[in-house]
Amino acid sequence: MSKTLQAVKGMNDIAPPHSANWEWLESVLREMAQGYAFRNVRTPIVEPTGLFVRSLGEVTDIVEKEMYAFEDKLNGEALTLRPEATASVVRAAIEHNMVYDGPKRLYYMGPMFRHERPQRGRYRQFHQFGLEALGFAGPDVDAELIFFASDLWQRLGLQGIELQINSLGQPPERAQHREALIAYLSAHADQLDEDAKRRLHSNPLRILDTKNPAMQALVDGAPRLMDYLGEASLAHFQGLRDILDANGVAYTINPRLVRGMDYYNLSVFEFVTTQLGAQGTVCAGGRYDGLFAQIGGKPTPAVGWAMGMERLLELLKEQSLLPELAGPDCFVVVPDAGSAAVVAQACRQLRLAGAQVHMHAGGADGQGSMKSQFKRANASGARWAIVCGQDELAAGQVAIKDLRVADGSVEQVRVDITRLGDWWREQA
Ligand code: ATP
Ligand code: MG
Repeated sequence: MSKTLQAVKGMNDIAPPHSANWEWLESVLREMAQGYAFRNVRTPIVEPTGLFVRSLGEVTDIVEKEMYAFEDKLNGEALTLRPEATASVVRAAIEHNMVYDGPKRLYYMGPMFRHERPQRGRYRQFHQFGLEALGFAGPDVDAELIFFASDLWQRLGLQGIELQINSLGQPPERAQHREALIAYLSAHADQLDEDAKRRLHSNPLRILDTKNPAMQALVDGAPRLMDYLGEASLAHFQGLRDILDANGVAYTINPRLVRGMDYYNLSVFEFVTTQLGAQGTVCAGGRYDGLFAQIGGKPTPAVGWAMGMERLLELLKEQSLLPELAGPDCFVVVPDAGSAAVVAQACRQLRLAGAQVHMHAGGADGQGSMKSQFKRANASGARWAIVCGQDELAAGQVAIKDLRVADGSVEQVRVDITRLGDWWREQA
């Protein structure tokens, strides 16, 4: 006997009723994007592997160990399932010269793939909603991106999400800091864990981000990037802070916020919560002024963020903020399978008028009694039962019953099938 097939570990099916939460969140996000005049961009799920190696950096977690990279069997091309979308969006912007007539505000939504250890809030296929503002030097637009997220938390009613910000300065400032950091860490080499030793010369900034408690004191005493920033970088950071302050958006400055990708500079930020266990970052991003040139485009300043949709939904659930599932408007009760053709006509009249209609259809176990169909009608959450009994249909009519009022307290009404559209419009 063959083993039952299952989904790939860390990759989830999203099915009813939970899928309704996804659809709801997606529609809220689209509305938010419209409110901020961001326009949708859709890029392929698969990209040339080189795109991510060049943009994210060789010695990042993603490129080192999380990418689903493979060779196209037919032509040998090196391909990768996208682990994130910023690189793809920038690639597309360069390829189609998107910023030739001015800067662009773009948003995307969709699955990303990273080979990580699956756990709560961490999957191998997960979904991000993200913003990219291309061609803006900021810091006004950096602040706008942050407002988008905090407005979203407010609109959803979410509590307890903290904003952390930092500045990574510019590459020359980072180079100076890097030297000082390597000197400091080398002087304390005995206190470094394996991971830190490995990163000491490749990506020492990431050591500051360590989760190892034994190294906290060491990293607390390390040279701070902020002390190496020049006037222009400091002014950019202050500019962002001024706009946030003036608008009452609270934040903490986290000097150890360095982000996972190499392409960031100046402003970086994360929205974090303590309510999701170890995976507490809901939304994260920053400025990446060097990325266009890094992958072969004209230098173009840009900033963006990405939000983990699974984590956001989990947090909404934690705080009991997911909406009640709405039922259809009408449940069509069909006592006799033989009347299917005229029942279908009644359903179409209603649907063409805009009603949401659930039609009872005969299953393997037959049509089901009136009583059981009414039970299902009530359970469906529908407001109206449209009863297609023999007598009614013979008169070219259906009987309509309001399921929200107690039995017997309201007469059923009879409506001509040809007038069902008008009846529905009268209810609205
Ligand atoms: P983490 O530190 O949690 O690994 P990250 O820095 O790798 O996050 P980003 O690449 O900045 O994450 O992605 C932005 C957001 O996407 C994260 O803040 C998180 O909400 C979400 N995210 C990232 N990786 C995963 C994953 N494997 N499963 C679910 N959501 C994820
Ligand atoms: Mg990660």
